[in-house]
Parts: sequence; C-alpha cells; structure tokens
Amino acid sequence: MNEFGLIDVFRRSAGADPRVPIGIGDDCALIRPSPGRDLLVTTDMLMEGRHFRLAEAGGRLVGYKAMAVNLSDIAAMAGVPLAAFVSVALPKTGAASLALDLLAGIRDAADRYGTALAGGDTNAWDGPLVINIALLGESPPQGAVLRSGAKAGEAICVTGPLGGSLLGRHLRPIPRLAAASALRGALRIGGMIDVSDGLLADLGHVLQESGGLGAILDEDAIPIHEDAIAMSRQDGRSPLNHACDDGEDFELCLTISEADVERARRLVPSLRRIGSTTADPGLRLRGRDGELRTAEAKGFDHLSS
Ligand code: ADP
Ligand code: MG
Repeated sequence: MNEFGLIDVFRRSAGADPRVPIGIGDDCALIRPSPGRDLLVTTDMLMEGRHFRLAEAGGRLVGYKAMAVNLSDIAAMAGVPLAAFVSVALPKTGAASLALDLLAGIRDAADRYGTALAGGDTNAWDGPLVINIALLGESPPQGAVLRSGAKAGEAICVTGPLGGSLLGRHLRPIPRLAAASALRGALRIGGMIDVSDGLLADLGHVLQESGGLGAILDEDAIPIHEDAIAMSRQDGRSPLNHACDDGEDFELCLTISEADVERARRLVPSLRRIGSTTADPGLRLRGRDGELRTAEAKGFDHLSS
C-alpha cells in the first residue's frame, strides 16, 4: 500500500463528525468548537527506543498510548477532546502494516473517548518509529482548570492508586476525562495536573505555578498500586517510593476545598485525599508517627535522563 492508499484508510476510518466539517483530505482540517468555549491544544511525541519498544508493545498499543497521553493532558484541564492530528515517521520496512496497527490503537482511544481523527502527516524513513499526536479539545463550560489555581490550606487529592506503571500499565493509560468533568461540574478545583512524571514532581509543578506553595502529604494516605508492591519486590525500592516517584500513572492530582472532599469522593469513588497545601514552600511527608520529613521530587527529566 502506498501513502495515498494509507491515508485513504485513515480517512475512511474517521467517519462524519459535526465538530469537524472538513477533516482528512483537504489541506487543512476545519474544526468547529462549541460556541463560547476556549480551544485547548496539546501535543506529545513518542519515540521508539525511548518511550516504548515496538517489539514488546506492538503498533496497536503504541497508537493507543500516543492518543491516551494526549487525552490525559486534556483531562488535566477538565477539557473535552475534539480532534486528533497524527504525524508518523514510519520505518520503511513494514511501514503500511505498522501504520494500520497504529490506526487500530488510535481508533480504540478515539472511539472510547469521543475524539475525531482530523488529520496528520505520513512519512517513512530508515530510522525507527516516531509518532506525534496533536490533540485539540475544548474547555468545559466553567472554564479550563489550570496548574496555577491552588491555594494554601486546600486538600490535595489523587484520582487513583500510583506506582509501578512500568510493569505494563504505562502502555494502557486510562485518561481521567470523566472524573475531571464530573468534579469540574460540581465543585471548584484549585490546581490540577496529570501524573506523568511522578506524583511529587507533578504536584511540585502545581505548587510552584500556584505562587510557591508547599504541601504536607500523609504517607499512609497515598494510594499505592499493587504494581508498586510487585516492583518493590523486584528492585527493593519501597512501594511508597514507587508511588511517589514513578511516572506514567496518568491519574490526576488536584487541589480542592477540604469541605468538598466527601462530595468529590462520591463523584469519583477512587479519589483519595493525600494531604494539604501549605503557605510555606517545600514538600513534606508525614509518617505514621506524625514525624515530618522533607521530600524531594525525583521526577523524570527528559533532557538529562
Ligand atoms: P499536504 O501535502 O497538503 O500536507 P498530505 O498528503 O500530507 O497533504 O495529507 C493529505 C491529507 O491526509 C491531509 O488531510 C492530512 O491531514 C491527512 N493525513 C496524512 N497523514 C495522516 C495520518 N497519519 N493520519 C491522519 N491523517 C493524515
Ligand atoms: Mg502533509
């Protein structure tokens, strides 16, 4: 199959969508967001050998993940996804069949989370697979939630258990779009972020963007994924350490008023309150004995790792 045959398959898979009057097949896509909403735009690139190993993951999961990580960014602003643009650099050998596998995974995520496939760019080369998806979304009626909106004295919550995603969950992230929309519709969210680089690192971004706040987290309250426990047996790092520092959980970390915690838990049963924001800067962990110790975020740095 040549490039145009392939694009035709992508085009036929896209279907009609009122939000995308002109999609694949013209020079630009034409997108029609709901009146009065802001446009949200995010983009994420995945590179073979860096973010995944194609032989292990397969094209379908890579396609799914490339969509899901972008959807997670839309969720982190309580937005609603609209349309995705998929750019690929395909390895020349087996390019067409890999592209079809990628498309299958892209469609899995697009169909599940209501996203149109509106365009992209298709190339082949002698190098490894690179896939970039740009995703457009729209803000919720109440306005997008920013990292910078947290205040001192708010409850810090996460939408689910953390740690050990490398055992496989990192390829099948579940973007917390529904949780974010439900919370946004019912209460004021202060600051919010999706946990891609690690809980402490990502919470650190919220605190910093919110004017240099600090936080006290209760060690016992941090929900630990069973994968964190399994990984701990393999590498000797504590499950708590995995929950605090591992990346790619794609749960949301957010601040809300203490008075709203119960309501938030009724809306999102997996939500847990893990601590509170403080006017003093710095991250501290409170142990079972009540003792406070300074925590340091060891999140993933893409340039130095
Ligand atoms: P141009 O040369 O004008 O950029 P292309 O031939 O690259 O046009 O693309 C033709 C159409 O196919 C455009 O609508 C483009 O968005 C779409 N397209 C190309 N590659 C992909 C892809 N991988 N996924 C989805 N749409 C694609
Ligand atoms: Mg092009």
